[in-house]
Amino acid sequence: MTTGTAAARLEPTANGATAVSTIGERATGPSVESVKTTLVDVPLLRPHKFSVHQMTHQSMVIVRLRTSDGIEGIGEAVVPGGPWWGGESIEGIKVLIDRYLGPMLHGADAGRVTALARDLDRRIPGAQSAKAAIDMALWDARGKALGIPLYELLGGLCRDRIAVTWAVGAEPAESVIREIEGKLASGAHSSFKLKMGAAEPQADAARIARVAHALADATSLRVDLNGSWDETTARRWLPVLEEAGIELIEQPLPAWNVAGMARLADRLRVPLMADESVRTPQDAARIIGEHAAGVLAVKVAKCGGLVGVQQVAAIAEASAVPCHGGTTIESSLGTAASAQVFCATPGVSAGSELFGPLLLAGDLVTEPIHYEDGCIVAPSGPGLGVTLDEDAVARYARD
Ligand code: MN
Repeated sequence: MTTGTAAARLEPTANGATAVSTIGERATGPSVESVKTTLVDVPLLRPHKFSVHQMTHQSMVIVRLRTSDGIEGIGEAVVPGGPWWGGESIEGIKVLIDRYLGPMLHGADAGRVTALARDLDRRIPGAQSAKAAIDMALWDARGKALGIPLYELLGGLCRDRIAVTWAVGAEPAESVIREIEGKLASGAHSSFKLKMGAAEPQADAARIARVAHALADATSLRVDLNGSWDETTARRWLPVLEEAGIELIEQPLPAWNVAGMARLADRLRVPLMADESVRTPQDAARIIGEHAAGVLAVKVAKCGGLVGVQQVAAIAEASAVPCHGGTTIESSLGTAASAQVFCATPGVSAGSELFGPLLLAGDLVTEPIHYEDGCIVAPSGPGLGVTLDEDAVARYARD
């Protein structure tokens, strides 16, 4: 417990905005007593190949945040298999939470979830996934304290389920076709995302065209380049994908090249989706202002938490740009947080890819997230609506 006035005070910040100062204020409700982390490695059912990285397991930092009223909120930090995507690593996230974010929160009012997130942003820029895990745990504790699911805290359901796109790694055309045909036969998914960028552009475009010619009449196909192409390459080969019937092209250019994305969007009929380019509300405002994407991907991990997702989605919705509920390949824990916020946010109207628990060979909760008719269903228990499986956490713990 620290000294100070009980009322939050408004302070000017570096960028001239105001923020409610909470850390270091005397808590008026239950306070944060401890923040503990466990690093786990969960194997995948099959390897997942991206442009420059192949995953065989997913690593998570599980956060347990205990409050002075005896409630434990849980959260999960992830990156997609390694630091290649956005610079954060799972090992670095653990150190950041253990040494900095956790101690900063000690004694803070656990109920001031939004204000705490803003305050952490002032103290540590970036580190979106580490902050997202803390944010999740604070929301979970709050929901459990009140006995209601997170979607009720976030304004209630806009939808109670979301369609789930399945992602296929950057494998040869035959193996991609085989995997999609199997999924179509099972009826579990009706749209598919094909990872690109691992092969030379001409061969990669030909590979996707082959898949599309075999399957485009049977299903909806989209591609994700994870920023692997430069603008010249994209101008040459994206029209081939468009001609082949691909319905959505995700992040063809590197995150920084928003102007290039705008020039491409202008030349194509097929919409572009921004992913690596949009992490913050400021990114969203810039991308929409420059007409650089027709769809924005939101993710709890890259947006720094649930409020970050809602802020990006609100900016997009104001310009009639739909958001797609993305994944960083979370277990049922992080996936529950995503389902809660995506179901409670009107602007997340362009489906989801919340397939994480379906790609993992094990899970970390007692009752895994529920899928039905190709959709994910938001859990209705208190908080995130999932309970840690302590045996599973111990089994997958790294140390
Ligand atoms: Mn992506």
